Amino acid sequence: MTGALAGPAFTQGLFDRAAARRGDPDWIAAQWQSGARVIGFDGEQALVSDEGGALSLYPLRASTALADTAVLLGLTDEGQAVFAVDAAGLAPEAALRRDVRGLAAEGRLPPRDLGLVAEARSLLLWHARHRFCANCGSPTRPADGGWRRSCAACEASHFPRTDPVAIVAVTHGDRLLLGRQPQFPAGMYSALAGFVEPGETIEAAAAREIFEEAGLRLTRIRYHSSQPWPFPSSLMIGLIAEADHDALTVDRSELEDARWFSRSEVSSMLAGHHPDGLKAPMPLAIAHHLLRAVLAED
Ligand SMILES: [Zn+2]
Repeated sequence: MTGALAGPAFTQGLFDRAAARRGDPDWIAAQWQSGARVIGFDGEQALVSDEGGALSLYPLRASTALADTAVLLGLTDEGQAVFAVDAAGLAPEAALRRDVRGLAAEGRLPPRDLGLVAEARSLLLWHARHRFCANCGSPTRPADGGWRRSCAACEASHFPRTDPVAIVAVTHGDRLLLGRQPQFPAGMYSALAGFVEPGETIEAAAAREIFEEAGLRLTRIRYHSSQPWPFPSSLMIGLIAEADHDALTVDRSELEDARWFSRSEVSSMLAGHHPDGLKAPMPLAIAHHLLRAVLAED
């Protein structure tokens, strides 16, 4: 773990996603044919090069064979188009296949490229999993540089989805609430989180989730920051809130454990020297930064 990231992973992408040009197939084809940057995946693994120190995204050639799955990620500050492709079966042997979480944890890929990986992974997986119309069941085709799928049978348009998740650092006095799911690495505790449901505000989702999982009612719910989490398409919405009492009723079907931690305990967990070996999430995750923000408050 290098800790090279100043903020959570996946938060520094392209500024210009060329939304106004996506509907013009001739412009997109011209970009593809004139020196575009092409990055790729083999299934769920990103293709990278290792230059003995820094990693970079493997530079694929904009070939006809790869054009079928190409999605337009946007334009660099210099105006170069960036595409992503599903290169399964077509990727050169020289390209290394790397797990996206591992890339984020290592911090050897430039933060901007990690942002491209997040955008590409979510978009390519959406295409792979939405090949049929949710309205009528007919096959759909990509459109708008990969930012829409259209159904020829019923003319419905389908758009890539982003699933909001509220993640909450809850305090009571000078203690913080952390919990662990059974699948977490041994000894790791994190802020509690849950998907926002239809018809909910972000704050309502946070309050419901903490009530369901820990039996607490929240006050002073404040927004802190957010993070795209491309597994496959979540948006983590980081919040800080206070509990109006400290008696926990932990939902053991969701959580293996949840309890209050002192500030000094959380501080030692973030630094990696808790006396019992307990750990907080790594800097790649928004939870790490939420906990740091709480500790920085008076
Ligand atoms: Zn349809």
